[in-house]
Amino acid sequence: MHEMSIAEGIVQLLEEQAAAQRFARVKAVWLEIGPLAAVEVEALRFCFEAVTRHSLAEGARLEIVELPGRAWCLGCNASVAIRQRYDACPQCGSYRLQVTQGDELRVKELEVE
Ligand SMILES: [Zn+2]
Repeated sequence: MHEMSIAEGIVQLLEEQAAAQRFARVKAVWLEIGPLAAVEVEALRFCFEAVTRHSLAEGARLEIVELPGRAWCLGCNASVAIRQRYDACPQCGSYRLQVTQGDELRVKELEVE
């Protein structure tokens, strides 16, 4: 499962940060996800809970920040909002879109002690 490797990646990042910044526990994680990152949020929550068990982030809150997607439309030469990668332009209906934002998946902030 894709979400399991994402969750494992997050825990690995937390362990690296804990070693570098000398904290012992993670209480909350803010994760930014773009709509094009193809992440099932509920599956990710489930995996996060499973992989953080017995780790420094056991019981940590996972706060999901959903970012908007954007693309550049070659039809109307404008930046438009999209919800999925193969959406048509909401203004002109063209499929000639270049995705400029939306595949983000990153830890934005941590609450630690
Ligand atoms: Zn357009």
